[in-house]
Amino acid sequence: MPGGNTRTSLFWQPHQIYAASASGSRVVDVDGVERIDLQNNFTTLIHGHAHPAVVRRVQEQVGRMMSIGLATELEIELAELICSRVPSIERIRFTNSGTEAVLAAIKAARAFTMRPKIAKCEGVYHGSSDLMEISNASTPAEWGDEEAPASVPMSRGTPEGVLNDIIVLPLNNIESSERLLNRHADELAGVIIDPMPVRSGLIPAKREYLDMLLSFTRRNNSVLIFDEVLTFRLGYHGAQAVFGCEPDLTTLGKIIGGGMPVGAVGGKREIMAVFDPREGFAVWHGGTFNGNPMTMVAGLACMELLTLDAFRRLDELGDLTRSKVREAFVGAGIAGQVTGMGSLLRIHCTERPLTGYRSFYPTPEEACNLVWLMVYLLNHGFLMTRMGTAAISTITTEAEIDRFGDTLFEGLKVMKKEGLAAA
Ligand code: PMP
Repeated sequence: MPGGNTRTSLFWQPHQIYAASASGSRVVDVDGVERIDLQNNFTTLIHGHAHPAVVRRVQEQVGRMMSIGLATELEIELAELICSRVPSIERIRFTNSGTEAVLAAIKAARAFTMRPKIAKCEGVYHGSSDLMEISNASTPAEWGDEEAPASVPMSRGTPEGVLNDIIVLPLNNIESSERLLNRHADELAGVIIDPMPVRSGLIPAKREYLDMLLSFTRRNNSVLIFDEVLTFRLGYHGAQAVFGCEPDLTTLGKIIGGGMPVGAVGGKREIMAVFDPREGFAVWHGGTFNGNPMTMVAGLACMELLTLDAFRRLDELGDLTRSKVREAFVGAGIAGQVTGMGSLLRIHCTERPLTGYRSFYPTPEEACNLVWLMVYLLNHGFLMTRMGTAAISTITTEAEIDRFGDTLFEGLKVMKKEGLAAA
Protein backbone atom coordinates (compact mmCIF):
# COMPACT_ATOMS: atom_id res chain seq x y z
CA MET A 1 0.00 0.00 0.00
CA PRO A 2 1.49 3.35 -0.95
CA GLY A 3 2.18 5.10 2.36
CA GLY A 4 1.38 1.91 4.26
CA ASN A 5 -2.37 2.32 4.59
CA THR A 6 -5.58 3.18 2.75
CA ARG A 7 -6.38 6.59 4.21
CA THR A 8 -4.15 9.61 3.71
CA SER A 9 -5.55 11.30 6.82
CA LEU A 10 -4.01 8.54 8.96
CA PHE A 11 -0.52 8.83 7.49
CA TRP A 12 1.97 9.64 10.21
CA GLN A 13 5.77 9.69 10.05
CA PRO A 14 8.08 8.01 10.89
CA HIS A 15 5.44 5.28 11.09
CA GLN A 16 1.74 5.14 11.79
CA ILE A 17 0.00 3.33 14.60
CA TYR A 18 -1.78 0.10 13.70
CA ALA A 19 -4.78 -0.66 15.89
CA ALA A 20 -5.55 -4.17 17.13
CA SER A 21 -8.83 -3.71 19.02
CA ALA A 22 -11.03 -1.14 20.67
CA SER A 23 -13.76 -1.12 23.29
CA GLY A 24 -15.56 1.76 24.97
CA SER A 25 -13.19 4.71 25.19
CA ARG A 26 -10.03 2.58 24.84
CA VAL A 27 -8.07 1.51 21.81
CA VAL A 28 -5.18 -0.96 21.90
CA ASP A 29 -2.49 -0.96 19.21
CA VAL A 30 -0.55 -3.93 17.83
CA ASP A 31 2.26 -3.24 20.32
CA GLY A 32 -0.24 -3.68 23.15
CA VAL A 33 -0.31 0.03 24.07
CA GLU A 34 -3.69 1.23 25.34
CA ARG A 35 -4.88 4.78 24.78
CA ILE A 36 -8.01 6.79 25.52
CA ASP A 37 -9.60 7.50 22.15
CA LEU A 38 -10.58 11.13 21.85
CA GLN A 39 -10.59 10.91 18.10
CA ASN A 40 -13.35 8.31 17.74
CA ASN A 41 -12.73 7.55 14.09
CA PHE A 42 -12.58 11.17 13.13
CA THR A 43 -15.73 12.04 15.18
CA THR A 44 -17.84 9.07 14.01
CA LEU A 45 -18.09 6.93 17.14
CA ILE A 46 -20.32 9.09 19.28
CA HIS A 47 -20.87 6.22 21.76
CA GLY A 48 -17.27 5.01 21.69
CA HIS A 49 -16.22 1.61 20.40
CA ALA A 50 -18.41 -1.50 20.43
CA HIS A 51 -21.34 -0.02 22.33
CA PRO A 52 -23.41 -3.04 23.48
CA ALA A 53 -26.64 -1.71 21.89
CA VAL A 54 -24.95 -1.27 18.52
CA VAL A 55 -23.14 -4.61 18.72
CA ARG A 56 -26.38 -6.40 19.57
CA ARG A 57 -28.26 -5.00 16.56
CA VAL A 58 -25.34 -5.75 14.23
CA GLN A 59 -24.98 -9.31 15.54
CA GLU A 60 -28.70 -9.95 15.12
CA GLN A 61 -28.60 -8.62 11.58
CA VAL A 62 -25.43 -10.29 10.33
CA GLY A 63 -26.97 -13.76 9.98
CA ARG A 64 -30.23 -12.38 8.65
CA MET A 65 -29.14 -10.25 5.70
CA MET A 66 -25.90 -8.33 5.21
CA SER A 67 -26.46 -6.76 1.85
CA ILE A 68 -29.21 -7.30 -0.64
CA GLY A 69 -30.29 -6.19 -4.08
CA LEU A 70 -33.70 -5.11 -2.80
CA ALA A 71 -35.01 -2.25 -0.73
CA THR A 72 -35.52 -2.96 2.98
CA GLU A 73 -37.74 -1.66 5.76
CA LEU A 74 -34.60 -0.85 7.73
CA GLU A 75 -33.75 2.03 5.44
CA ILE A 76 -37.26 3.38 5.91
CA GLU A 77 -36.79 3.22 9.70
CA LEU A 78 -33.55 5.21 9.64
CA ALA A 79 -34.97 7.63 7.07
CA GLU A 80 -38.01 8.24 9.29
CA LEU A 81 -35.86 8.77 12.36
CA ILE A 82 -33.71 11.40 10.62
CA CYS A 83 -36.65 13.14 8.92
CA SER A 84 -38.51 13.33 12.23
CA ARG A 85 -35.55 15.08 13.87
CA VAL A 86 -34.60 17.55 11.13
CA PRO A 87 -37.53 19.57 9.75
CA SER A 88 -35.68 20.64 6.56
CA ILE A 89 -35.10 16.98 5.63
CA GLU A 90 -38.40 16.00 4.04
CA ARG A 91 -36.88 13.33 1.80
CA ILE A 92 -33.59 11.44 2.19
CA ARG A 93 -31.36 8.95 0.39
CA PHE A 94 -28.43 6.99 1.75
CA THR A 95 -24.90 6.64 0.37
CA ASN A 96 -21.77 4.89 1.64
CA SER A 97 -19.70 7.93 2.56
CA GLY A 98 -19.89 11.63 3.17
CA THR A 99 -17.98 12.23 -0.04
CA GLU A 100 -20.71 10.49 -2.04
CA ALA A 101 -23.43 12.35 -0.13
CA VAL A 102 -21.87 15.69 -1.09
CA LEU A 103 -21.52 14.56 -4.73
CA ALA A 104 -25.19 13.58 -4.79
CA ALA A 105 -26.17 16.96 -3.28
CA ILE A 106 -24.18 18.79 -5.94
CA LYS A 107 -25.81 16.74 -8.70
CA ALA A 108 -29.22 17.50 -7.21
CA ALA A 109 -28.50 21.24 -7.04
CA ARG A 110 -27.35 21.24 -10.66
CA ALA A 111 -30.30 19.21 -11.90
CA PHE A 112 -32.75 21.38 -9.98
CA THR A 113 -31.34 24.71 -11.18
CA MET A 114 -29.81 23.62 -14.49
CA ARG A 115 -26.72 25.67 -13.60
CA PRO A 116 -23.13 24.39 -13.41
CA LYS A 117 -21.25 26.13 -10.58
CA ILE A 118 -20.97 25.58 -6.85
CA ALA A 119 -19.60 27.99 -4.26
CA LYS A 120 -17.65 26.71 -1.27
CA CYS A 121 -15.49 28.30 1.40
CA GLU A 122 -11.72 28.34 1.34
CA GLY A 123 -10.05 25.75 3.56
CA VAL A 124 -13.22 23.73 4.05
CA TYR A 125 -13.33 19.98 3.60
CA HIS A 126 -16.33 18.37 1.92
CA GLY A 127 -14.82 14.98 1.04
CA SER A 128 -12.26 13.89 -1.49
CA SER A 129 -13.92 14.53 -4.85
CA ASP A 130 -12.23 16.57 -7.59
CA LEU A 131 -14.67 19.41 -7.13
CA MET A 132 -14.75 19.60 -3.37
CA GLU A 133 -10.99 19.31 -2.94
CA ILE A 134 -10.61 22.74 -4.51
CA SER A 135 -8.97 25.23 -2.13
CA ASN A 136 -9.37 22.88 0.74
CA ALA A 137 -5.74 23.22 1.76
CA SER A 138 -4.47 26.28 -0.15
CA THR A 139 -1.19 27.73 1.09
CA PRO A 140 -0.27 31.42 1.35
CA ALA A 141 1.89 31.05 -1.78
CA GLU A 142 -1.10 30.09 -3.92
CA TRP A 143 -4.27 31.40 -2.25
CA GLY A 144 -4.28 34.86 -3.87
CA ASP A 145 -6.51 37.78 -2.96
CA GLU A 146 -8.33 37.46 0.36
CA GLU A 147 -11.40 39.19 -1.11
CA ALA A 148 -11.55 36.70 -4.01
CA PRO A 149 -9.60 33.54 -3.14
CA ALA A 150 -8.02 31.57 -5.99
CA SER A 151 -9.44 28.14 -6.92
CA VAL A 152 -6.48 25.97 -5.97
CA PRO A 153 -6.43 22.27 -6.90
CA MET A 154 -5.41 19.76 -4.27
CA SER A 155 -4.52 16.82 -6.52
CA ARG A 156 -1.95 17.19 -9.27
CA GLY A 157 -3.56 17.00 -12.70
CA THR A 158 -6.98 18.38 -11.70
CA PRO A 159 -8.57 19.56 -14.97
CA GLU A 160 -9.02 23.29 -15.54
CA GLY A 161 -12.76 22.76 -16.02
CA VAL A 162 -13.10 21.60 -12.43
CA LEU A 163 -11.38 24.76 -11.17
CA ASN A 164 -13.72 26.92 -13.21
CA ASP A 165 -16.79 25.28 -11.72
CA ILE A 166 -15.96 26.21 -8.13
CA ILE A 167 -16.30 29.69 -6.68
CA VAL A 168 -14.18 29.98 -3.55
CA LEU A 169 -15.53 32.18 -0.76
CA PRO A 170 -13.74 33.62 2.29
CA LEU A 171 -15.61 32.18 5.30
CA ASN A 172 -17.16 34.81 7.57
CA ASN A 173 -16.24 37.67 5.21
CA ILE A 174 -19.79 38.70 4.37
CA GLU A 175 -19.14 41.56 1.96
CA SER A 176 -16.55 39.80 -0.18
CA SER A 177 -18.50 36.54 -0.29
CA GLU A 178 -21.71 38.31 -1.28
CA ARG A 179 -19.87 40.21 -4.01
CA LEU A 180 -18.47 36.94 -5.42
CA LEU A 181 -21.86 35.23 -5.26
CA ASN A 182 -23.55 38.11 -7.05
CA ARG A 183 -20.86 38.14 -9.73
CA HIS A 184 -21.51 34.47 -10.56
CA ALA A 185 -25.22 34.40 -9.71
CA ASP A 186 -26.44 33.32 -13.15
CA GLU A 187 -24.24 30.24 -13.17
CA LEU A 188 -24.54 29.21 -9.53
CA ALA A 189 -26.41 25.99 -8.79
CA GLY A 190 -25.76 26.33 -5.10
CA VAL A 191 -23.58 27.10 -2.12
CA ILE A 192 -22.20 24.43 0.19
CA ILE A 193 -21.24 25.32 3.74
CA ASP A 194 -20.13 23.42 6.82
CA PRO A 195 -21.28 25.59 9.73
CA MET A 196 -18.19 24.71 11.79
CA PRO A 197 -15.55 23.44 9.40
CA VAL A 198 -12.88 21.32 11.03
CA ARG A 199 -10.08 21.71 8.46
CA SER A 200 -10.16 25.47 8.70
CA GLY A 201 -9.86 25.48 12.46
CA LEU A 202 -13.26 24.41 13.84
CA ILE A 203 -14.25 28.09 13.82
CA PRO A 204 -18.03 28.51 13.65
CA ALA A 205 -19.61 30.36 10.75
CA LYS A 206 -21.10 33.65 11.94
CA ARG A 207 -24.86 33.75 12.14
CA GLU A 208 -24.93 36.79 9.81
CA TYR A 209 -22.74 34.94 7.32
CA LEU A 210 -25.23 32.06 7.17
CA ASP A 211 -28.10 34.56 6.92
CA MET A 212 -26.37 36.15 3.93
CA LEU A 213 -25.95 32.74 2.22
CA LEU A 214 -29.57 31.90 2.90
CA SER A 215 -30.93 35.16 1.53
CA PHE A 216 -28.62 35.01 -1.51
CA THR A 217 -29.70 31.48 -2.42
CA ARG A 218 -33.38 32.34 -1.88
CA ARG A 219 -33.07 35.46 -4.07
CA ASN A 220 -31.10 33.60 -6.70
CA ASN A 221 -33.23 30.43 -6.75
CA SER A 222 -30.14 28.40 -6.05
CA VAL A 223 -29.65 25.68 -3.45
CA LEU A 224 -28.16 26.10 0.03
CA ILE A 225 -26.43 22.89 1.08
CA PHE A 226 -25.40 22.34 4.70
CA ASP A 227 -22.64 19.76 4.97
CA GLU A 228 -23.34 18.22 8.36
CA VAL A 229 -21.31 15.06 7.79
CA LEU A 230 -19.30 16.02 10.85
CA THR A 231 -21.41 18.63 12.63
CA PHE A 232 -24.61 16.60 12.83
CA ARG A 233 -23.25 15.52 16.22
CA LEU A 234 -23.83 19.04 17.55
CA GLY A 235 -27.48 18.52 18.40
CA TYR A 236 -30.62 16.41 18.32
CA HIS A 237 -31.98 18.44 15.38
CA GLY A 238 -28.57 18.79 13.74
CA ALA A 239 -26.19 21.72 13.43
CA GLN A 240 -28.78 23.68 11.45
CA ALA A 241 -30.94 24.01 14.55
CA VAL A 242 -27.94 25.06 16.63
CA PHE A 243 -27.03 27.71 14.05
CA GLY A 244 -30.64 28.72 13.37
CA CYS A 245 -30.47 28.33 9.61
CA GLU A 246 -32.67 26.04 7.50
CA PRO A 247 -30.90 24.85 4.34
CA ASP A 248 -32.45 23.34 1.21
CA LEU A 249 -30.29 20.23 1.28
CA THR A 250 -28.23 18.59 4.03
CA THR A 251 -25.47 16.03 3.75
CA LEU A 252 -24.87 13.58 6.57
CA GLY A 253 -22.43 10.80 7.36
CA LYS A 254 -20.33 9.52 10.24
CA ILE A 255 -22.63 9.15 13.31
CA ILE A 256 -25.74 8.12 11.37
CA GLY A 257 -24.02 4.83 10.45
CA GLY A 258 -23.17 3.88 14.04
CA GLY A 259 -19.60 2.99 13.00
CA MET A 260 -20.45 1.46 9.62
CA PRO A 261 -19.71 3.21 6.28
CA VAL A 262 -22.44 5.73 5.56
CA GLY A 263 -23.58 9.00 4.05
CA ALA A 264 -26.92 10.59 3.27
CA VAL A 265 -28.38 13.47 1.34
CA GLY A 266 -31.71 14.91 2.32
CA GLY A 267 -33.79 18.04 2.05
CA LYS A 268 -36.71 19.76 0.45
CA ARG A 269 -39.20 17.52 -1.29
CA GLU A 270 -39.12 19.43 -4.60
CA ILE A 271 -35.31 19.28 -4.86
CA MET A 272 -35.02 15.67 -3.73
CA ALA A 273 -37.54 14.82 -6.48
CA VAL A 274 -34.59 14.86 -8.92
CA PHE A 275 -33.74 11.39 -7.54
CA ASP A 276 -37.25 10.04 -8.12
CA PRO A 277 -37.31 7.89 -11.27
CA ARG A 278 -41.06 8.57 -11.57
CA GLU A 279 -40.22 12.20 -12.18
CA GLY A 280 -38.01 11.45 -15.16
CA PHE A 281 -34.58 10.23 -13.98
CA ALA A 282 -33.12 13.74 -13.61
CA VAL A 283 -30.30 12.28 -11.51
CA TRP A 284 -29.25 8.65 -11.44
CA HIS A 285 -28.23 7.64 -7.94
CA GLY A 286 -26.92 4.10 -7.71
CA GLY A 287 -24.64 2.37 -5.23
CA THR A 288 -24.34 -1.35 -4.54
CA PHE A 289 -24.17 -0.79 -0.78
CA ASN A 290 -26.49 2.23 -0.44
CA GLY A 291 -28.75 1.71 2.57
CA ASN A 292 -27.26 -1.72 3.28
CA PRO A 293 -28.90 -3.48 6.24
CA MET A 294 -25.74 -3.63 8.38
CA THR A 295 -25.25 0.11 8.22
CA MET A 296 -28.94 0.80 8.75
CA VAL A 297 -29.19 -1.26 11.96
CA ALA A 298 -25.95 0.14 13.38
CA GLY A 299 -27.14 3.64 12.53
CA LEU A 300 -30.55 3.06 14.11
CA ALA A 301 -29.03 1.72 17.33
CA CYS A 302 -26.63 4.66 17.50
CA MET A 303 -29.22 7.33 16.74
CA GLU A 304 -31.80 5.90 19.14
CA LEU A 305 -29.25 6.25 21.96
CA LEU A 306 -28.81 9.91 21.02
CA THR A 307 -31.60 11.36 23.11
CA LEU A 308 -31.93 15.01 24.13
CA ASP A 309 -30.27 14.03 27.42
CA ALA A 310 -27.38 12.42 25.57
CA PHE A 311 -26.76 15.68 23.70
CA ARG A 312 -26.91 17.65 26.98
CA ARG A 313 -24.27 15.33 28.41
CA LEU A 314 -22.09 15.67 25.29
CA ASP A 315 -22.32 19.46 25.57
CA GLU A 316 -21.29 19.36 29.24
CA LEU A 317 -18.38 17.03 28.60
CA GLY A 318 -17.26 19.18 25.65
CA ASP A 319 -17.38 22.34 27.79
CA LEU A 320 -15.43 20.59 30.52
CA THR A 321 -12.74 19.44 28.09
CA ARG A 322 -12.41 22.89 26.54
CA SER A 323 -12.04 24.45 29.99
CA LYS A 324 -9.32 21.91 30.87
CA VAL A 325 -7.44 22.81 27.69
CA ARG A 326 -7.64 26.53 28.51
CA GLU A 327 -6.47 25.90 32.09
CA ALA A 328 -3.53 23.85 30.83
CA PHE A 329 -2.35 26.59 28.46
CA VAL A 330 -2.77 29.34 31.06
CA GLY A 331 -1.15 27.25 33.81
CA ALA A 332 1.85 26.41 31.66
CA GLY A 333 2.19 29.99 30.38
CA ILE A 334 2.07 28.91 26.73
CA ALA A 335 0.26 30.67 23.91
CA GLY A 336 -2.72 28.54 22.93
CA GLN A 337 -6.49 28.33 22.59
CA VAL A 338 -9.27 25.91 21.88
CA THR A 339 -12.11 26.23 19.37
CA GLY A 340 -15.26 24.19 18.86
CA MET A 341 -18.62 23.64 20.51
CA GLY A 342 -20.68 20.75 21.78
CA SER A 343 -18.67 17.55 21.66
CA LEU A 344 -16.10 18.89 19.18
CA LEU A 345 -12.90 20.74 19.94
CA ARG A 346 -9.63 21.71 18.34
CA ILE A 347 -6.40 22.86 19.98
CA HIS A 348 -4.34 25.71 18.49
CA CYS A 349 -0.85 26.74 19.52
CA THR A 350 -1.55 30.45 19.01
CA GLU A 351 -3.40 33.31 20.70
CA ARG A 352 -4.11 35.09 17.40
CA PRO A 353 -7.85 35.79 16.99
CA LEU A 354 -9.25 33.06 14.73
CA THR A 355 -12.04 34.10 12.38
CA GLY A 356 -11.55 31.97 9.26
CA TYR A 357 -9.11 29.87 7.25
CA ARG A 358 -6.43 32.51 6.72
CA SER A 359 -6.26 33.70 10.32
CA PHE A 360 -6.22 30.08 11.46
CA TYR A 361 -3.45 29.01 9.03
CA PRO A 362 -0.61 28.05 11.40
CA THR A 363 2.91 29.46 11.11
CA PRO A 364 5.62 26.76 10.71
CA GLU A 365 6.45 27.18 14.42
CA GLU A 366 2.80 26.79 15.49
CA ALA A 367 2.39 23.74 13.26
CA CYS A 368 5.54 22.20 14.70
CA ASN A 369 4.42 22.83 18.29
CA LEU A 370 1.03 21.24 17.64
CA VAL A 371 2.56 18.09 16.16
CA TRP A 372 4.94 17.89 19.11
CA LEU A 373 1.98 18.16 21.48
CA MET A 374 -0.03 15.49 19.65
CA VAL A 375 2.95 13.12 19.76
CA TYR A 376 3.35 13.86 23.48
CA LEU A 377 -0.31 13.00 24.08
CA LEU A 378 0.02 9.86 21.95
CA ASN A 379 3.01 8.75 24.00
CA HIS A 380 1.13 9.47 27.22
CA GLY A 381 -2.10 7.60 26.54
CA PHE A 382 -4.33 9.82 24.38
CA LEU A 383 -5.35 9.59 20.75
CA MET A 384 -6.46 12.74 18.93
CA THR A 385 -6.16 13.64 15.26
CA ARG A 386 -2.83 15.00 14.03
CA MET A 387 -4.61 18.32 13.56
CA GLY A 388 -5.35 18.59 17.28
CA THR A 389 -9.03 17.72 17.00
CA ALA A 390 -11.01 15.71 19.53
CA ALA A 391 -14.58 14.37 19.60
CA ILE A 392 -16.06 13.48 22.96
CA SER A 393 -18.34 10.45 23.10
CA THR A 394 -21.27 9.70 25.40
CA ILE A 395 -19.16 7.17 27.29
CA THR A 396 -16.22 9.51 27.92
CA THR A 397 -15.94 10.05 31.70
CA GLU A 398 -15.09 13.17 33.72
CA ALA A 399 -12.14 11.23 35.17
CA GLU A 400 -10.76 10.65 31.65
CA ILE A 401 -11.17 14.32 30.85
CA ASP A 402 -9.36 15.28 34.08
CA ARG A 403 -6.54 12.94 33.15
CA PHE A 404 -6.44 14.45 29.68
CA GLY A 405 -6.19 17.98 31.15
CA ASP A 406 -3.37 16.92 33.50
CA THR A 407 -1.46 15.18 30.71
CA LEU A 408 -1.81 18.18 28.41
CA PHE A 409 -0.58 20.46 31.19
CA GLU A 410 2.46 18.22 31.77
CA GLY A 411 3.17 18.21 28.04
CA LEU A 412 2.95 21.98 27.82
CA LYS A 413 5.34 22.34 30.75
CA VAL A 414 7.87 20.12 28.98
CA MET A 415 7.30 22.12 25.81
CA LYS A 416 8.07 25.35 27.67
CA LYS A 417 11.15 23.87 29.34
CA GLU A 418 12.52 22.69 26.03
CA GLY A 419 11.91 26.12 24.54
CA LEU A 420 9.62 24.83 21.82
CA ALA A 421 6.94 27.48 22.15
CA ALA A 422 6.94 31.22 22.54
CA ALA A 423 5.89 31.83 26.15
N1 PMP B 1 -17.84 16.53 4.62
C1 PMP B 1 -17.34 16.80 5.85
C2 PMP B 1 -17.72 18.07 6.52
C3 PMP B 1 -16.47 15.90 6.46
O1 PMP B 1 -15.96 16.17 7.67
C4 PMP B 1 -16.15 14.69 5.79
C5 PMP B 1 -15.22 13.67 6.41
N2 PMP B 1 -14.39 14.08 7.39
C6 PMP B 1 -16.71 14.46 4.53
C7 PMP B 1 -17.55 15.38 3.98
C8 PMP B 1 -16.40 13.21 3.78
O2 PMP B 1 -16.92 12.10 4.41
P1 PMP B 1 -16.32 10.64 4.12
O3 PMP B 1 -14.96 10.61 4.75
O4 PMP B 1 -17.30 9.71 4.77
O5 PMP B 1 -16.27 10.48 2.64
